[in-house]
Amino acid sequence: MRVAVTGGGGFLGSHLCEALLRRGNAVMCLDDFSTGQPQNIAHLRDHPAFEFIRADVTEPVDVRGRVDAVAHLASPASPPDYLRRPLQTLAVGSRGTERMLRLAERHGARFLLASTSEVYGDPLTHPQSEEYWGNVNPVGPRSVYDEAKRYAEAVSFAYRRSLGVNVGVVRIFNTYGPRMRPHDGRVVSSFITQALSGEPLTIYGDGKQTRSFCYVDDLVRGLLAMLDSDETGPVNLGNPQERTVGELAELVLRLTGSTSEVQYHPLPTDDPTRRRPVITRARELLGWDPEVDVEEGLLRTVDWFSSRPQDLATAAAA
Ligand code: NAD
Ligand code: UDP
Repeated sequence: MRVAVTGGGGFLGSHLCEALLRRGNAVMCLDDFSTGQPQNIAHLRDHPAFEFIRADVTEPVDVRGRVDAVAHLASPASPPDYLRRPLQTLAVGSRGTERMLRLAERHGARFLLASTSEVYGDPLTHPQSEEYWGNVNPVGPRSVYDEAKRYAEAVSFAYRRSLGVNVGVVRIFNTYGPRMRPHDGRVVSSFITQALSGEPLTIYGDGKQTRSFCYVDDLVRGLLAMLDSDETGPVNLGNPQERTVGELAELVLRLTGSTSEVQYHPLPTDDPTRRRPVITRARELLGWDPEVDVEEGLLRTVDWFSSRPQDLATAAAA
């Protein structure tokens, strides 16, 4: 099987490329490195079944050879990243998704869309199951990401209904692990790099907002299960262990043994107050369940960041 992975040079995409190669698939990785990094895939470059194309998937891409599946992960994912690139984020969710759907249609390939829990916005029901339609501010700053993903889901379903494309949509909840950029602004990478560099941990708001954090290896198992299935979804993929941001800060301080202080900053506009996935669908349809406890996953992530003191120094300077 030959899989095109868009966003394959990013955090999740690089782990997916690695997992696909490990199980014997060929991988064509497409990335423009707008938020990804060449070093994420440097160790794969010499693999005989790995091919890299530097490309912006909102523009025409010269894809040669057969493609059996398209995993569409290209999109900024961290709030500071997509707030800095509002038009590009909308373009990759809309035009980029359509281009990749057309590629899948031409090849009769499976199409996997990496959607997000952000389609639920600031949810009015808790926890969130796939039946919930969401509560998104369509004109707020986060809308460039939320609405791009909602459109990406809509156009994927339309390609399935109108053209019979074998589409599968997963809604990913906050995922963390090695290869997050230390300065990407997401909460896990920020707290760990701050704790390891002795900088204050920056809590936005009162720290009572919750998220449910999933370790990257678990998430990638879920992506593979969805890719291999014929399910359309949408299917939530996330770890239902819910924590407040304040609890996460305490946990990171304990696991790193850091004496960093905690500093409170204003809550960003439209920052969701609660997030926890219902994962019954993933369990029943894909036989998937997260296995890595948040403490264990954070320890592995701390170890990874600790082994890169140079990156931490860059983050502290940024
Ligand atoms: P990331 O920023 O590390 O990776 C995204 C990759 O897409 C980067 O390598 C970037 O360079 C590439 N990219 C962006 N625009 C592109 C374009 N126009 N053409 C080609 N490449 C482009 O983010 P991530 O955390 O790995 O997220 C991957 C996917 O998973 C995204 O679609 C994101 O929305 C989704 N997701 C992630 C999370 C999470 O917690 N990590 C949660 C929900 C959804
Ligand atoms: N957050 C925080 N400090 C940071 C970065 C983020 O308190 O340095 C908060 C953020 O406001 C949000 C939560 O942590 O409430 C998760 O943020 P992240 O950017 O990781 O993901 P998302 O908001 O997309 O779920």
